Order: sequence, then structure tokens, then C-alpha cells
Amino acid sequence: MIDQLSRRLFIKSSVFAAGAAALGIVELTYATQGDSCRWALLSDTHIPADKTEKYRGYSMIDNMDNVVPGVAVSKPDGIGITGDIARLSGKSEDYLVVKEYVDKLTLVAPVFMALGNHDHFKNFNAAFPSTSGEKAQVKGKHVTVVNSGPVRLIFLDSLQITNYVAGRLGQAQRNWLQKYLTKSDKKPTILLLHHSFGGGDGDLQDDLRFFKVIQPHRNVKAVIYGHSHCYRFSKQDDLDLINLPSTAYVFNNKFPVGWVDAEFSATGASLKLRAIAGNKADEGKVTKIKWRS
Ligand SMILES: [Zn+2]
Repeated sequence: MIDQLSRRLFIKSSVFAAGAAALGIVELTYATQGDSCRWALLSDTHIPADKTEKYRGYSMIDNMDNVVPGVAVSKPDGIGITGDIARLSGKSEDYLVVKEYVDKLTLVAPVFMALGNHDHFKNFNAAFPSTSGEKAQVKGKHVTVVNSGPVRLIFLDSLQITNYVAGRLGQAQRNWLQKYLTKSDKKPTILLLHHSFGGGDGDLQDDLRFFKVIQPHRNVKAVIYGHSHCYRFSKQDDLDLINLPSTAYVFNNKFPVGWVDAEFSATGASLKLRAIAGNKADEGKVTKIKWRS
């Protein structure tokens, strides 16, 4: 049964990979056409070069080995990882192991990534010279856009200095976003980035300027982020903020380790927690969100 599934995934993805390499993925295509799309949302994978490494009692590798089959079974249209993909300082050796997992996930669906404070711009780009998504021209930043059925996802880059906790989008990226949102059509748009908000020393340092850019664009419906290793929902005025759990470990045992099986439509989102460790009490819990109008 499992062999059959992996063979099917392999065949599907071989065809997909050939097409992806030739075209670059800017628009996802669907086996089944519907009013919604499915995304597997992962964050803070912290994948180490040394596969035996543990942190806070968790094996980041064992966790990924647990997450990948779950993602495959969920059959998403796309897979997003919101930063801190590599363990601590984004070493080339870390990205060799990251690539093993991204290759496995790519057999399931195209993978889109945002960089976090434990990633390294040059080493990431060396490991992934052509990643999925329409690449935005923002110098020194990895910014990608993908149209996914009823919604558009924009992966932003808040990496400021590798292995320094705080993040920043920077003026060039904020200006690009402002222009992009102004000229794009009104399709519901979801922004994804690594850093958290709230004005703390370790948060996104230009969060207020970021919200000033996006709030007037009513088609921006939600911001999805990681960094805190907490799973929680909040709002910035009427804009939904979704904080993804880490697949690697928690700092606070009340939160789960895991990922989120998300369904997006033109009117909202349905998010199912897939807890694999930490606090698993809410495993399978579905949270529904209605987009702001
Ligand atoms: Zn992290």
C-alpha cells in the first residue's frame, strides 16, 4: 500500500518536475478543479547537517521523517515553509540535508520557502538555484509569488542578519510589495514570512511600516508566519495573523510540534493542526477563518 502510494507520487512528481523545470511555477495547476486549494504549511524546520543532532529533547530529523509522509497523505496542491529552514546559521552542509527533504516534498507538490533568521541567503540560493514561484526583483532578498486557484500567496524575506534573532523586510522589499499590491488584480492574497510581530527585540523590526503598506489593500486577507514556535491566531485590526507551529521543537511545552493542513478559498481558510509531538491535545483540531471584506 505504502509502496503503491510512493510509486504514484513518484510518477506524478516526475512529470511535474519536468514541467516545473521548463516553465517555472507561477500558477499551480490542479488534478481536481474546485473552489479551494490545499496547502501543507510548515515552519521552523531547523534541519541540521548532523542528522543525529537533538535540541530540547527533539530530533529535528525524526520529526521531518514523521511530517513528510503525513504531508504526502494529505495531497496538498502546494507546500510552504516559513523560514528557519536550516538549523542555526544556514551552513551549506545544513542545506544539503534540507535539500533531501525538499526533494522528497517536491515529489508531493511544489515547495515554496521564506527565509528566517537561521537561514543564509547565499548558501540557500546555492542549494536552491531555481525554487518554485515567480521571483520578485528585490536585490538580496528571496521573494516569490504563486497563484493557487482562488488565492495568491506571496513569500516574503525577513532575514536580516543570519543567526541574529530580529528580522526586517527592508525598504526595497516594502516598496516592491506596495507596487505589486497596487498593480495586481484583487484576488485574495496571503502573505507568508518568518518573523513575528509585536515590537519585541526579536520580532520583525519594520512591522508597523509593513502593516501600513498592506492594511489599505483589502485583498490582503492574512499573514502567516513562524519564528515563535507557537501555534496561535490573532488579528492586526481586521487582518488575520496565523502563527504556525515548528516541526522541530517548542520553547514552551503548551504548544504543539507539527504542521498545518490548510484549505484556502476566496472567502476564508480552514486550518487543521497536525501535531506530531509537544502538546498533542489539539491534534486534528480545525480552525475556520472568514476573510475580512
Ligand atoms: Zn525557529
